[in-house]
Amino acid sequence: MILVESGLYIGAASDLKDLTKLSSQGITHVLTVDSEQVALPSSQFITKYVRALDDSTTDLLSKFDECVQFIDVGKEPSCSVLVHCHAGQSRSAAVVTAYLMKTHKITLEQAQSKLIQVKPDVKINENFLDQLTLFESFGYVVDISSPQYKQFRLKNLTERYSDLKDLPKEVFAADPGQSQNTEISYRCRKCRRTLFCGSSILSHEVGNGPNAFPHKKTAGPGSGHHASCTSYFIEPVRWMEDALLGVMDGQLLCPKCTSKLGSFNWYGEQCSCGRWVTPAFQIHKNRVDEIKHINIPALK
Ligand SMILES: [Zn+2]
Ligand SMILES: [Zn+2]
Repeated sequence: MILVESGLYIGAASDLKDLTKLSSQGITHVLTVDSEQVALPSSQFITKYVRALDDSTTDLLSKFDECVQFIDVGKEPSCSVLVHCHAGQSRSAAVVTAYLMKTHKITLEQAQSKLIQVKPDVKINENFLDQLTLFESFGYVVDISSPQYKQFRLKNLTERYSDLKDLPKEVFAADPGQSQNTEISYRCRKCRRTLFCGSSILSHEVGNGPNAFPHKKTAGPGSGHHASCTSYFIEPVRWMEDALLGVMDGQLLCPKCTSKLGSFNWYGEQCSCGRWVTPAFQIHKNRVDEIKHINIPALK
């Protein structure tokens, strides 16, 4: 168990066995980031458990905010918090790094070097480092409804796609064809079936792709996105579920008239702007119409 900064310790599962030491360091709060919950030697501690494997698919990113909150409470005067995983090198280190970044408004690199100074054997796995990089780019707040988070979650899913029997329900947007909504939505140009909402579009930075597409002009940031992308890249929508299961790529057909709307590929596809999007659920813009506002309560 090592002191990172006032009131914050990092350690391993073995540190939980020594009640005398925990008490002498004034530990009041224990945050466990491990594949299983470890029994504590006493019920005197306030605990939080985050289930996490130290691997290439675990999503710690969506847990950073709640972990930081718990650590904040555990660092209040006359409290101390121990953040631990199994070995105290990767998972707990990732969480402590996220805490340092957010609290001190410092970069991943700065937080890492701060932690390595006190604990040189820290070795955060690549997956968590990628997530910490995203955390930094999000401004230390994870909005799970943001396109960036959704894209991360899908990419993360691709990593373990071959092991999956089912796709997790949360990656699918509700089918707007089955419900009323007031958002901007997109309909099949041929049969008018509502296919997806504006919030399902996972926008990407326009690629500069001058080598791949020399005839295209590169649009300026913000304004030109739709000018050079001929497809919408969206999150999976419920009606796609059967098409996506068990295959790496294929066509996306309208669930009503079966006309071809686009394609998907779990390994990714290249947008017309040159940018690779992984995984990709791509709807050609010329196969759908944008509907600005649907609000007809008596529709059903
Ligand atoms: Zn594009
Ligand atoms: Zn259709």
